[in-house]
Amino acid sequence: MAATRARWNRVLLKLSGAALAGKAERGVDLDRVRQIALGVKEAADVGAQVAVVIGGGNIVRGGEAAAVGMDRASADYAGMLATTINGLALQDALEKLGLETRVQSAIRMDEVCEPFIRRRTMRHLEQGRIVILTGGTGNPFFTTDTAAALRAAEIGVEAILKATNVNGVYDKDPHKCADAVMFDRLDYNEVLDRRLKVMDLTAFTMSMENNIPIVVFNIDEPNAVRRIMMGEKIGTYVGRLTDEA
Ligand code: UDP
Repeated sequence: MAATRARWNRVLLKLSGAALAGKAERGVDLDRVRQIALGVKEAADVGAQVAVVIGGGNIVRGGEAAAVGMDRASADYAGMLATTINGLALQDALEKLGLETRVQSAIRMDEVCEPFIRRRTMRHLEQGRIVILTGGTGNPFFTTDTAAALRAAEIGVEAILKATNVNGVYDKDPHKCADAVMFDRLDYNEVLDRRLKVMDLTAFTMSMENNIPIVVFNIDEPNAVRRIMMGEKIGTYVGRLTDEA
């Protein structure tokens, strides 16, 4: 029988900057942002509290800028600022769908958005507002995946939904190997043992230590967020498998 209630009450959706860029892989494609906003709305529509952590790789990636000569820490700060640009674009699209939202940043920019204040974030979530968390962790040398794992633990989400451009976690890169096999479910330890790519290691370890499951899924799969929230087994579920409902 189909579930009638969402599987989790509070979730964190991790969107990479590339998800907003469309085919060009750079910049912000507003049609694409509108499409992504519909996916975010699906989690709210099934009654869950929704936080979003958004990346900035479509605008600046610190590692890439450093590789061509920019100081790494400065490049990383630029990358963190880029995430707020994406956050504002997503906020606009969500508000046009009639949702109440707040953008918060780990780097203060008071004229633009709220600072990240944990208790305030949780209050917004309780009030049914979608909170878009930008600015990464606020520290260079980290990633927005790590920001997602950190905020997930801080604000007590029950699962991280990590949107990607592939269907889940594979044994090898599905873009390069036609025989790559996707996993339906993985235990945290298996991910570590097989060195599978779910998130970067810092982010992954933090999720594992706090026992927060991660669902890796394809953002372009129709109604993926709603289907995951309602318990359909799409994408790859990563967690402590003995705990899985
Ligand atoms: N970044 C950072 N600290 C953080 C989060 C992000 O320095 O806590 C910088 C880093 O340079 C990164 C860029 O912001 O390359 C954009 O974030 P990320 O690459 O994680 O975005 P995504 O790949 O998810 O679009």
